[in-house]
Amino acid sequence: MAIAYTPPICIRVKVMQVICLDCGMSVDDYVDYCPKCDNELGLQHDGSTVTVDIAHQGERVSEALEKMQKEIDAARKGVAESIRLVVGSGLIRDEVLLVLRDLQFRADIKSFESESGNAGAVLVRLK
Ligand SMILES: [Zn+2]
Repeated sequence: MAIAYTPPICIRVKVMQVICLDCGMSVDDYVDYCPKCDNELGLQHDGSTVTVDIAHQGERVSEALEKMQKEIDAARKGVAESIRLVVGSGLIRDEVLLVLRDLQFRADIKSFESESGNAGAVLVRLK
């Protein structure tokens, strides 16, 4: 019986691509600087704001904080400039402000402020 020959299979690993907002070049996701225009990709944003409600589905404080961290991490990888956290008026809001102070100290976020005229939302500047 002949031995079947199995040719080696070439597996092409697909790398996520991002678009440089300055020059439009398609760049591999893990690259920090655009190879064409040299812009720092992690600092690029399109001026948009993502709104996330972390306090109105019966979340406990720990769940709300976890949700916030996940949303901030995700948004920092995206193109939005800011994230708007709907935090309500209770304990979650107090804890969120404490954590945001810490994140700002660690330079994970740029700044944050309670939304003017709506204390139940906090605007977090990411980039
Ligand atoms: Zn570029």
